[in-house]
Amino acid sequence: MSRRSSHSASRKRLPILAVAALCSLPTAHSQTASPASTTPSKRLVAADAAPVRGTVLPSSVQQGALVIGRTHPAAVVEYDGRRLRVSPNGLFVLGVDRDATGPLVVAVKPPGGSVLPHRIEVTARDWPIERVNGAPPKTVNPPPQIAERIAREQALIVASRKRDDAREDFAQPFVWPVRGRISGRFGNQRIYDGTPKSPHGGMDIAAPTGTPVKAPAGGIVIFAANDLYLTGGTLLIDHGAGVSSNFLHLSRIDVKVGDRVEQGQVVAAVGATGRATGPHLHWGMHCHGVRVDPLLVLELAK
Ligand SMILES: [Zn+2]
Repeated sequence: MSRRSSHSASRKRLPILAVAALCSLPTAHSQTASPASTTPSKRLVAADAAPVRGTVLPSSVQQGALVIGRTHPAAVVEYDGRRLRVSPNGLFVLGVDRDATGPLVVAVKPPGGSVLPHRIEVTARDWPIERVNGAPPKTVNPPPQIAERIAREQALIVASRKRDDAREDFAQPFVWPVRGRISGRFGNQRIYDGTPKSPHGGMDIAAPTGTPVKAPAGGIVIFAANDLYLTGGTLLIDHGAGVSSNFLHLSRIDVKVGDRVEQGQVVAAVGATGRATGPHLHWGMHCHGVRVDPLLVLELAK
């Protein structure tokens, strides 16, 4: 874990390069590029929207992906009924649901231009069944009188995520918050001691209690609580534009709501609090309420 710190410290923000690296092909390429191949249209494009060199988006993504696109900073971008924030560098971000089938349609209207729909194909993934045995029984089948507490705690977390900050932390190449064996994967169907539960909302990394947890990217602390019923020590960091990370089952939290944290900064320690069978870090990510797979976000950084 410590050997990552100097490495991560040297990886500064490279939003534009990060996007270029992850985006294979612009979608709707023919719509943006072919008019420019004829002289009259080329002139038109140059006069109307010279900075728009097409919108850069991957042509296909996996279920659970975080997708970062780039377009003209003044473009209007809509996806799934929502207008997405476009940063001064023209970056925008969206989440692909675990069960999305695609094609996804991202509508981009450059300034002075007409709306171009960009289609993104979605690659289906396998979601194996994962059996988890040995979690505290009271967390697997909580007593009825606890239901209200769980609902209240979940509502607080959901409310904390309802923000859309102008920061571009989401475009940093993410680093592992803890190094260790992946003991649980995103999206897997989970059965706790024979009781089917919701699909796993993040990735689990096995590590001893007390192992420092580092911010995988910069952000603002939006939630911190030491003892939630299901998730134990719980910390959320907002990375801007509706993207956030959550860290669960922590034994210690070193930051407080409102703090600015930088990539690689120690923010908490691994634990086994809440519904856990042993010490590990659960790391989940959301983009505007859509759960995405942190492992795919790490792969973007490669
Ligand atoms: Zn987990």
